[in-house]
Amino acid sequence: MARNGSGRLWLRHIRPDFVIDAVAHLTAEDVRRVAPDATALCFDIDGTVTDYHAPAVTEAEASHLATLREAGYQIFVVSNCYGQRAREVHRLFEPYVTGVFTPEDCVDPADPKPNPRKHGKPAPDMILAATARAQIPPDHVVMVGDQLFKDVLSARRAGVRALLVPRLGPSDHNGVRYLQRPVERVLRPLLGLPAGKRSWPHTLTPVP
Ligand SMILES: [Mg+2]
Repeated sequence: MARNGSGRLWLRHIRPDFVIDAVAHLTAEDVRRVAPDATALCFDIDGTVTDYHAPAVTEAEASHLATLREAGYQIFVVSNCYGQRAREVHRLFEPYVTGVFTPEDCVDPADPKPNPRKHGKPAPDMILAATARAQIPPDHVVMVGDQLFKDVLSARRAGVRALLVPRLGPSDHNGVRYLQRPVERVLRPLLGLPAGKRSWPHTLTPVP
């Protein structure tokens, strides 16, 4: 029993507050309905807004983020990418969102041994940087992403709510595909999350 109990406590750190089948179906009306005090949304990019390492933002993806911003939300990108890819993500998304944060953006310029990787999700640093930029408390923010162990866990650590979506597109980081996704598949039923591809809801839905 003790082992079960501690296991359940641990699961709380990766349990999202909401689910939806695709970011493209997320509307401002939905967010107002289930999270009326939210004023900022943070988006993971790879597997959430675009396919993994997509070289461009499609018209539909870009206009959807812009629509949410026009509806009054501060929109942030928080993406675990480095070097050239980080520069690409800044260039691709800055025209459409309030702010873009990659791990390199969270490095303290005074740090004598800077290591951007320690600021990547599941660390809460990028979400907290977005919250500071938005000048709002963490409980007014919702983090949107496709990974339990990066997006949801970083949201929990930052004290913001988490919206989980199934991975968008066919591509994935190999380590995530072969090590993390199988674990996610086992955990989803234990977390009360949709188990199969077709069981994700088309509208924003609280996790019971
Ligand atoms: Mg992702």
